[in-house]
Amino acid sequence: MKIICVGRNYEEHAKELGNQKPEAPVLFLKPKTALLTGKDFYYPEFTKDLHYECELVLKISKNGKHIQEKFAHKYFQEISLGIDFTARDVQSRLKAKGLPWEVAKAFDNAAPVGSFRSLQANEEIQNLNFSLLVNGEQKQSGFTGDMIFSAPQIIAYASQFFTLNTGDLIFTGTPAGVGPVQVSDHLEAFLGAEKVLDIQIK
Ligand code: MG
Repeated sequence: MKIICVGRNYEEHAKELGNQKPEAPVLFLKPKTALLTGKDFYYPEFTKDLHYECELVLKISKNGKHIQEKFAHKYFQEISLGIDFTARDVQSRLKAKGLPWEVAKAFDNAAPVGSFRSLQANEEIQNLNFSLLVNGEQKQSGFTGDMIFSAPQIIAYASQFFTLNTGDLIFTGTPAGVGPVQVSDHLEAFLGAEKVLDIQIK
């Protein structure tokens, strides 16, 4: 499986990092070894500025290539939240040199993902609220209607380049409010009122 991530998909977040609003989805990948489920997260040694980015995650439910936007909703049924952990200091150094910032985001365990649930029949993918609490304090609050590129647009775009396979995950971008985590922090992510992700930083 692979993890496809979208960068800069919420305007307020693009602004907080000094980035332009993108004209097409900004995609990057995380390998299978980045996936972390149901375990503690150990703060990596190569960074001193690890940031959380809480994001809606889609689980791909069938294989597809060149998927049309109007059919994209047929390719996912389950959703959750994930953290796109980012070594911001490493990323900034690489960005400044115009180099790919892969290692800042694709390292082992850089993609914790919560428990998945089915999208309800009356639920719109672009009408979901989610939030991230750090040590009980709300740090991020997102509304999927604020995405620059919708879930179907992301799937249509990404599948021009990458065949989507059952079980692949798509991180759909983070809203504003990203920030650093420290050892001993407790992260809880809520999809609506339901807690789907709980991580201890060690
Ligand atoms: Mg992100």
